[in-house]
Amino acid sequence: MEFKRPLVIAGPCSAESEEQILATAQALAATGKVDIMRAGVWKPRTKPGNFEGVGATALPWLVKAKEMTGLPVATEIANSRHAESALEYDIDVLWIGARTAANPFSMQEVAEAIRDTEKMVFVKNPVNGDVDLWCGAVERLAACGVKNIGLIHRGFSGYGAGELRNAPMWHLALEMRRRMPDLPMLCDPSHICGCRQYIAEVSQQAADLNYYGLMIESHINPDKAWSDAKQQLTPAALDTLLDGIKWRAGESSSESYKTALLGLREQIDSLDREILQLLSERMNVAEQIGRIKRENDVRILQASRWEDIVEHVLAQSHNLDLSEEFLHTMLDAVHVESINRQNRVMNEGEE
Ligand code: PEP
Ligand code: MN
Repeated sequence: MEFKRPLVIAGPCSAESEEQILATAQALAATGKVDIMRAGVWKPRTKPGNFEGVGATALPWLVKAKEMTGLPVATEIANSRHAESALEYDIDVLWIGARTAANPFSMQEVAEAIRDTEKMVFVKNPVNGDVDLWCGAVERLAACGVKNIGLIHRGFSGYGAGELRNAPMWHLALEMRRRMPDLPMLCDPSHICGCRQYIAEVSQQAADLNYYGLMIESHINPDKAWSDAKQQLTPAALDTLLDGIKWRAGESSSESYKTALLGLREQIDSLDREILQLLSERMNVAEQIGRIKRENDVRILQASRWEDIVEHVLAQSHNLDLSEEFLHTMLDAVHVESINRQNRVMNEGEE
């Protein structure tokens, strides 16, 4: 199935009332920039007792919104009952939420319930950063004859996302695209950000990483939304935001651009070689430390020394324009490898 590119799916987090759905649909259609309207009908909520969606009651509202505006409609399905209802109302596009994608039993159930469907089915990344699990979800659909599958990157929970609700971990989404290059991947900046403030920036990042399109939550009266109020945009704000996104070209035929790029890439390659050389030397020194520790019967882990290193590096990096998050990730990787190398030396001593 070929969709227009960039594809824009927009609509409220949840369907709340017929009036809300129809008013939102009309306002979104009026922008001329939205290709598909979304609305959650069954809502997976972290805690019980929160609004869990109006359920199948909302499906006729979506059908009406489509009749009024011509926009195809999309909703989330998480079990076979949802699937059957959505198919019964001929909802055009389906998506599998992040919690469902993380659960193989649910994925299998949904895949069997929509067996052989011609509809487009988007699979969000599982809540945890497991690319294999995301692939598995797609494979279960494909094995049940679902031919039109897409992906939605909505970020990963519990990774210290900082100001964002779900850490984007772009490298995981790019790895998924490398593994499944034929599947269009959209970015869902609304669930990555969790608030309006960063949506434009994250959307632009997605455009610059050559995503196929965006899924953005938009509500006629965001502050009064029954779910995800902080991250929804009015259709007018969405219109402005979409206007501001640059979908840049993948290549340029300009000779000066090509020459400059080549030069910079050579610099990167040479710096990478130097970094690797230095890392290798550092690990050799760690091994020597392991050796003298073994000879002197001292254990490997000396926590205070490591704390000193981290403190020292962070202090020294003050003017280097490297984020603390990056420095911590890099230092953690170096620490793990150092310990592994010292362990190796200790064990050689045991043999
Ligand atoms: C949603 O799209 O409203 C939703 C519940 O998203 P996710 O599954 O990404 O949390
Ligand atoms: Mn939502």
